[in-house]
Amino acid sequence: MRVLAISDVIVEALYSPTVREIARDVDFVVSCGDLPSAYLEYIVTMLDKPLYYVMGNHGARGGAREYPEGCVNLDGRVAKHNGLLLAGLEGSIRYNDAPRYQYTENEMRAKSMFLALKLWLNRIRNGRYLDVLVTHSPPFGIHDGGDAAHQGFKTFLSLIDRYHPDYLLHGHIHLYDNRAVRQSVRGHTLIINTYGYKLIDLAGHQ
Ligand SMILES: [Zn+2]
Repeated sequence: MRVLAISDVIVEALYSPTVREIARDVDFVVSCGDLPSAYLEYIVTMLDKPLYYVMGNHGARGGAREYPEGCVNLDGRVAKHNGLLLAGLEGSIRYNDAPRYQYTENEMRAKSMFLALKLWLNRIRNGRYLDVLVTHSPPFGIHDGGDAAHQGFKTFLSLIDRYHPDYLLHGHIHLYDNRAVRQSVRGHTLIINTYGYKLIDLAGHQ
């Protein structure tokens, strides 16, 4: 199964009819946040494929409409796409007093415990917890930054270690040169920074 994953910056080639060429054989789209609703709606309309997303810390950036229409919000939820199990957690670590989309480590732990109930239901129904975890923030110590705004969540390390998703797709960390580390492995999980865009061939259960 092939996925177009996007986050953080608008890529002009995806915001024009060439998106159909670039994402020709994609099964679905994942947005890891900090993108305007209009951009997501353009892509979902042009490709006519499902788009699953989480909000970034810059929730309403670039548009009056906060949530993109015709797209599926994965925050705190699980979804099943042709047998593939998806789950998501929005936002970043709290670093200022913005009202939404920032969470302390404890708040994210509470969110992840609620999500874990749904992962256990997955386990009962499907024989495994999940395949792809979609987040905006990276896990702590993996691709994250040294400053307060770009520190990752320790909770995500626990989710990886307990529930063993094949993939964790995240955004939030901008990459300024192509030598920057974009993929890492922890245990069974491939962690990918989707900054800009990335086409990913999902291996595993499908
Ligand atoms: Zn962000």
